[in-house]
Amino acid sequence: LPLGSDFSLDGLPLREDLRGRSPYGAPQLDVAVRLNTNENPYPPPPALVADVAAATRDAAERLHRYPDRDAVELRTALAEYLTRATGVALATENLWAANGSNEILQQVLQAFGGPGRVAVGFEPSYSMHPIIAAGTRTEWLSAPRRADFSLDADAAVALITERQPDVVFLTSPNNPTGQSIPAEDLRRLVAAAPGMVVVDEAYAEFSAQPSAVSLIGECGGRLIVSRTMSKAFAFAGGRLGYLAAAPAVVDALQLVRLPYHLSALTQAAALASLRHADATLGSVALLAAERDRVVEALGGMGFAVVPSDANFVLFGQFEDAAAVWKSYLDRGVLIRDIGIAGHLRVTIGVPDENDAFLAASKEVATEVQ
Ligand code: PMP
Repeated sequence: LPLGSDFSLDGLPLREDLRGRSPYGAPQLDVAVRLNTNENPYPPPPALVADVAAATRDAAERLHRYPDRDAVELRTALAEYLTRATGVALATENLWAANGSNEILQQVLQAFGGPGRVAVGFEPSYSMHPIIAAGTRTEWLSAPRRADFSLDADAAVALITERQPDVVFLTSPNNPTGQSIPAEDLRRLVAAAPGMVVVDEAYAEFSAQPSAVSLIGECGGRLIVSRTMSKAFAFAGGRLGYLAAAPAVVDALQLVRLPYHLSALTQAAALASLRHADATLGSVALLAAERDRVVEALGGMGFAVVPSDANFVLFGQFEDAAAVWKSYLDRGVLIRDIGIAGHLRVTIGVPDENDAFLAASKEVATEVQ
């Protein structure tokens, strides 16, 4: 047994509010078809791999020095990408980067949440939002979405007006349900919020809806648009998330970020990866078409499918979702039981993986119907 194994977590002076909690994590099983964590299923093309290898080799020659603390070159490249992608002119000062958008969200709550402050989210949504709130001791207010999982903007505006939360989380497209928030609803929600509004756009590249970045100039610095290179950019292993906001928001995050949080290797690899954005993002249209194919096929088999703007699909309706999840696993297909009664989520894979998923679905359909 490892040294110290005679002590259990119960015996440690852990913060009372963390006792009994479970860490976030999807089961990572060694299965042929893994459609459970919303990654881009296409590996980086050889030219990108070569460029990342050369760039990190170069950076290795300076590893005795700390990296650029403000990641200026990377933030400039991200600003150029986001300007191109959205048509909204963004400067280096509008961008901030961290190790995945999870770290971005944690820094946001360290700066704008914390003890005595309240953050609201409309659930079911990304389960890390309340976990990051707990870690930063931000009180979490859970508000419901409609029964069809879309966001009821009238109800949300009323709740924000009544409860005056310090931070509002909106996820568009929403994970795990897939729908985007229409631009007009977003504008109303931002106008109603007294504090900061975070729009988590981790899956934005898969959606035809306009990005919330166009609202950054109109709301007195209170809007933060969070993005990631983990999904469309096929860079989940590289850990690079970023946000767009008013420069004052970036100033605020500098107060809580750890110095040199983004390693020189991460910065070099992300910059190299961004140079290949056009090639990588070529897979987005393919995945969106595959998503539409999967949605239609599932519907044809009699499943209830939630419309999706992202690279995953929520479907049901199952009496026992956990048992159905296991039926898929028994057929070599790993999907996700996200804890929504009667539903499971499948990430869109390459066409062969989607075929395997649909073949398994056909068999599952005969079992459950
Ligand atoms: N936001 C949403 C909505 C997500 O689904 C995810 C990943 N599952 C993230 C943020 C975090 O991703 P990352 O830290 O890899 O950027």
